[in-house]
Amino acid sequence: MKNSGILSGAVPPIDPAGRVHLVFCVGDCADARAAATAWAVQALAAGRVATVVPAATAAEVAQFVRRSCAGSRVLIAGPRREAMAAAAAARVAGALPCETTTYITAVQGIALFCPHCGETRDVDAEPGAVVACGSCGLDLEIRSHLSGHHGTYLGAVA
Ligand SMILES: [Zn+2]
Repeated sequence: MKNSGILSGAVPPIDPAGRVHLVFCVGDCADARAAATAWAVQALAAGRVATVVPAATAAEVAQFVRRSCAGSRVLIAGPRREAMAAAAAARVAGALPCETTTYITAVQGIALFCPHCGETRDVDAEPGAVVACGSCGLDLEIRSHLSGHHGTYLGAVA
């Protein structure tokens, strides 16, 4: 069974043919941890080995993949940016595309606070970009400073 690609939506199942499953959560994401838990449960239920790394960096993913034996399956869950970086690192480290599953959790982007209406919305944009407030529609420039209080970015009226 081929189990390749980049998926979102429902958590994809593990490839039961894999004897060893390397499971990585990237980004600090509850959905990714839930997916990793589901994968580990499936692997153990199938009598397979599961190695779960709860908060992996791309470098750690590469390290584990390099040390893994042939035929291991690589499962990555996280927000798009982190998951794609981890998948790329796994590829470079030698994981085959057909052995790698990348599960994209909700595309979160960043949390942007609007000083005009006081709402915080997730936007799929980078600091420096100008986006419309999801609540009041005002154009906001995303300041690069991350607010320590709420983990949000502050928007400035553009
Ligand atoms: Zn607003």
